[in-house]
Amino acid sequence: MEISILEAGPRPMAKLAITGGGRCNLTNSFEGVENLAEVYPRGSRLMRRALGRFGWRECCRWFEDEGVQLLVQDDHCVFPVSQDAMQIVRTLERRMRKGGVRLMCGSRIDNISRVLDSADAVVLATGGGTAGILEGMPIELVSPVPSLFTLRINDAGLRSLMGTVTENVTLGLAGTRFRAHGTLLLTDWGVSGPATLKLSSYAARELAAGGYKGMLLVNWLGCSEDECRALLRSMASGSGRLIINSHPPRLTERLWRHLVLRAGVREDSRWGELGLKSSARLVNTLISDTYDIIGRARFKEEFVTCGGVSLSEVRPESMESRKLPGLYFAGEILDIDAVTGGFNLQAAWSTAWIAAHSIAEKY
Ligand SMILES: Cc1cc2nc3c(=O)[nH]c(=O)nc-3n(C[C@H](O)[C@H](O)[C@H](O)COP(=O)(O)OP(=O)(O)OC[C@H]3O[C@@H](n4cnc5c(N)ncnc54)[C@H](O)[C@@H]3O)c2cc1C
Repeated sequence: MEISILEAGPRPMAKLAITGGGRCNLTNSFEGVENLAEVYPRGSRLMRRALGRFGWRECCRWFEDEGVQLLVQDDHCVFPVSQDAMQIVRTLERRMRKGGVRLMCGSRIDNISRVLDSADAVVLATGGGTAGILEGMPIELVSPVPSLFTLRINDAGLRSLMGTVTENVTLGLAGTRFRAHGTLLLTDWGVSGPATLKLSSYAARELAAGGYKGMLLVNWLGCSEDECRALLRSMASGSGRLIINSHPPRLTERLWRHLVLRAGVREDSRWGELGLKSSARLVNTLISDTYDIIGRARFKEEFVTCGGVSLSEVRPESMESRKLPGLYFAGEILDIDAVTGGFNLQAAWSTAWIAAHSIAEKY
């Protein structure tokens, strides 16, 4: 079988080379993932099947067989021990050479029909936001919108806390069911960190539809109202200390001060003097804080597109088009996308493996 890769750019895998900040977070051990929709907001059903055939273990074995040593971090992300994405690129290039694959850089595909006429099978793996090249073909496309971005917040007080990292925060988008739990980083433009990226992924379509305006809900303690009340009671008991001077272990001193003042509690209030109303306001600020979202900011590390070739167009067992036999899809051109952590590349590996094996069996 003759295989040719037509690559528009001057080099293959230019994006792969910059993944994971140049270290390439190539997959994830999926530990603690109970529901795949938590990590694949779009495409979880197809991914369940795909991971059953070429999952993270198979992916690790494939690279290890090629001599790449891998490391599963405590956060379940998998990186090459070399911490060098170029090792992954070189490994794939070596395998291409070994397999006699013809790589043609600087070859942009504009006309899919012509390519389809000239080959037995064509795999379209042109990445996120490129499904437009199928326009005019009888294939349903889901309009592309960005995912994995940070949010601009209009609040000087919050911005003054730039650099503050808080773990186990729950973020939400008001008026929707979207909630994301994790670490929150405050920046000079608003909010970032894993919890924000996760929320941007879950609510990618809703945020786009609302012009990236809306109300951000923040539960600073990531706990229930009862748990919050219990925490405040335990902090208050027998203490004549100033409220502002004793913060819950999870919140920094500066953030606590910001939240106490935001709740309208006076700077010189002592725990023993905290009345019912002030206490209720403090609980409300701690677990149901709200901030105006005024836009989105691009995340420096990872940025993917949600949307693309509708999964209803694809045979999940082969990644072949239902309507155009001989045309296959793999990677981000499909309407599959994930939160950060190596899940996006795993989707690309899994779908590519299935397409390749299906073609190899057929021809
Ligand atoms: C900065 C950054 C960091 C990331 N880090 C991670 C990470 O650590 N872990 C993770 O899981 N995910 C990460 N991602 C997401 C991940 O890179 C993508 O999900 C993945 O690269 C998708 O692979 P793909 O092969 O489908 O598309 P791409 O990697 O985008 O490759 C598509 C290729 O097709 C070529 N092409 C496009 N149009 C045409 C055309 N018309 N004709 C010919 N060729 C064409 C492009 O030049 C490109 O080389 C990151 C993304 C970014 C932007």
